[in-house]
Amino acid sequence: MHSGSGQRVIIVGAGPAGVFTALRLAATGGFQVTIMDKGRDLSHRSCPSIERNAGCVNCPTCSVISGWGGAGAFSDGKLTLSPEIGGHLGEYVGQEKLAGLLEEADRIYLQFGAPPRVYGEVTPEVEELIRKARMADLTMIPTRIRHLGTGYSKQVLAAMESHLRQLGVDIRMGVEVESILSRPAEGHGGSGPAKDAGQVPAEEVWGVRTAKGEEVPADYVVVAPGREGAEWLRGEAERLKIPLATNPVDIGVRVETAAEVLEHITSKVYEAKLIFYSKTFEDKVRTFCMCPHGEVVTENLDGLITVNGHSHAEIKTENTNFALLVSKTFTQPFKDPITYGKHIAGLANLLGGGVLVQRLGDLLTGHRSTEERIHKGTIRPTLHDATPGDLSLVLPYRYLQALVEMLQALDRIAPGIYSRNTLLYGVEVKFYSSRLQLSAELETPVRNLFATGDGAGVTRGLMQASASGLVVAEAIRKRAALALLPAACGHSRDRQ
Ligand SMILES: Cc1cc2nc3c(=O)[nH]c(=O)nc-3n(C[C@H](O)[C@H](O)[C@H](O)COP(=O)(O)OP(=O)(O)OC[C@H]3O[C@@H](n4cnc5c(N)ncnc54)[C@H](O)[C@@H]3O)c2cc1C
Repeated sequence: MHSGSGQRVIIVGAGPAGVFTALRLAATGGFQVTIMDKGRDLSHRSCPSIERNAGCVNCPTCSVISGWGGAGAFSDGKLTLSPEIGGHLGEYVGQEKLAGLLEEADRIYLQFGAPPRVYGEVTPEVEELIRKARMADLTMIPTRIRHLGTGYSKQVLAAMESHLRQLGVDIRMGVEVESILSRPAEGHGGSGPAKDAGQVPAEEVWGVRTAKGEEVPADYVVVAPGREGAEWLRGEAERLKIPLATNPVDIGVRVETAAEVLEHITSKVYEAKLIFYSKTFEDKVRTFCMCPHGEVVTENLDGLITVNGHSHAEIKTENTNFALLVSKTFTQPFKDPITYGKHIAGLANLLGGGVLVQRLGDLLTGHRSTEERIHKGTIRPTLHDATPGDLSLVLPYRYLQALVEMLQALDRIAPGIYSRNTLLYGVEVKFYSSRLQLSAELETPVRNLFATGDGAGVTRGLMQASASGLVVAEAIRKRAALALLPAACGHSRDRQ
């Protein structure tokens, strides 16, 4: 059922970016909103690897990152409320507006059942941590976080789904979009986004084609395919001649230590965002996604097994894990950091059949880790299907050096992190490549085609992805209102 007559909007991807676009449009009214996602409905999303505590079985569509809620559903549900973290949305809309959008998105999460507590307010104790970090060559960015936890994330997303269904939003799960359909724009040459008509064809979107060959017409298409769909979107952007910029690729490891080692920090800031520039290469290294008392998990990116982490709202382990990532922006002529990152993660898969785990002590003394060596350590791995191995056979010297130097610096504020027993899982990769050329409203040069969330290279986390959905919905709302004024513009008319 559709939400009545009105302008038709297709949203590709049911992650936070797509869901928040739909929430705002459905609340506005006057739109027929359809969400298409190649993954499953929330109640049918299950990961055999997590449930059976076995290795990844390479499902055709990975339930961990695809389906209702997108990567957010199985995520740790840490809602980062600080505008400095979680993506580039501020570069499009301005930092001040971003702060307001994050507040708005946060209110929506609260409305759908997010817990009220916020971690990470800057107290005198936090100021003291920032000072100590500075003395250890580290920059600590205070971050306000609302933590859903994996269990709560699903409840919140389920409430959003049933609300959208009640408002008549057409939710089509298990539908993969293969192509974005465009045609020469009507009335081009005036107010549309394709201003540099000399370089970019003045096209407008008119719908999508699904993998099953169905052509579904629409007045507006919003693509929010997440990291999982970033390569697909990149291909579509190239086909549609939408210019692309290269983002850095972040490659590193997931560090697992005893929760006590970081307790004095995580109890005060929940998540410590620490930045370090490596001594040897001056590469940026940062901590990311700190999961106190959490679990290390695998992630399947189109058949490539990488590592991630989460904390469950109720189940607590005795360990804390976090990612340690080295950022690298490539210069001309190379512009395919996704492939570079995949090759490195692929090496770990080649050697270990998936994720490798190594004790820091083994890495430093030039040994591979074995089951026996891991067993002798004091940290029990929470990821059971990682293969003990040797990360020095996988990560380039530049990366390893940066990671070791950062761990040494971290040890000055969290003694015990540079212990021989600390576990390193590899490889963790964050692909943020291929930023599409977008307007401040996140519209591509193809009229009425919007790209948002992680897949468009705009965001890197739940809150900014959600906020980016609000930006797009607002742009469509304004555009639709204009289209109702006959003299106002020559925007899209349905030619179907
Ligand atoms: C294990 C894990 C833990 C995380 N923890 C956190 C955290 O604690 N805090 C945080 O801020 N962020 C976290 N993240 C990141 C966060 O989940 C993402 O930043 C966020 O979900 C991005 O939202 P999105 O809407 O852009 O894309 P996604 O959530 O990735 O959703 C994209 C959707 O599009 C669908 N799709 C892709 N291509 C197509 C296609 N061609 N046709 C149809 N559907 C398609 C996919 O199936 C998917 O459901 C985590 C991610 C993972 C994997």
